[in-house]
Amino acid sequence: MQLAPRFTIQAWAEEENAKGHFCACGCGQRVRVLPMHRKNAIPKYVPEHCPSRFGAEIQALHAQGLMTATDLARELCLQRKAVHPFADEIIGHTPRVGSRQIRVFTPKQVAKLRAELARRAHPRHDLTDAQWAKVAPIVSPPPKQRSGRVRADRAMVNAIRWIQRTGASWKAMPDRYPLGSTCQVRLATWNRDGTWARVCQVLA
Ligand SMILES: [Zn+2]
Repeated sequence: MQLAPRFTIQAWAEEENAKGHFCACGCGQRVRVLPMHRKNAIPKYVPEHCPSRFGAEIQALHAQGLMTATDLARELCLQRKAVHPFADEIIGHTPRVGSRQIRVFTPKQVAKLRAELARRAHPRHDLTDAQWAKVAPIVSPPPKQRSGRVRADRAMVNAIRWIQRTGASWKAMPDRYPLGSTCQVRLATWNRDGTWARVCQVLA
């Protein structure tokens, strides 16, 4: 069987480097394209020529293969506010660098965080039937107990728990769950009327 050639981000970077990207200041120097630029956009300048000092620092970090917390959020589809607590928990202290003392992550640390995220996002963490039996009366009280509706509520609870477990962004919600925006609206309602607090209580 013939397999289609696999697309790799490394290959993408090589291709972009072959195309050639040049410094926007007009100096004619080549900007080196790294795999991480696929998501974070290819820099316009070589590090030393970036007009803002902070921008230059960030570019210099990228050139060393390091990521900032913002890069990491984008790379792993995490909510920006979830990055630091998650990193604190999984890798602990990371160095702070530069004029603004920002936190940086090495490729190895990023890989470790990615692996942990995959572990937490696994479907085995979805509600068991026994857990759902406790949660169902809270989120699907009698008047709405039609089967389609109840199934949707169960999926919604699983989706919200996925978000809370991973710190992922709503946009990154896997296909097996309802639409992220729908879940976000539902969680807001459940937070307002105390439903979600009761769900957490029975699952604790
Ligand atoms: Zn330049």
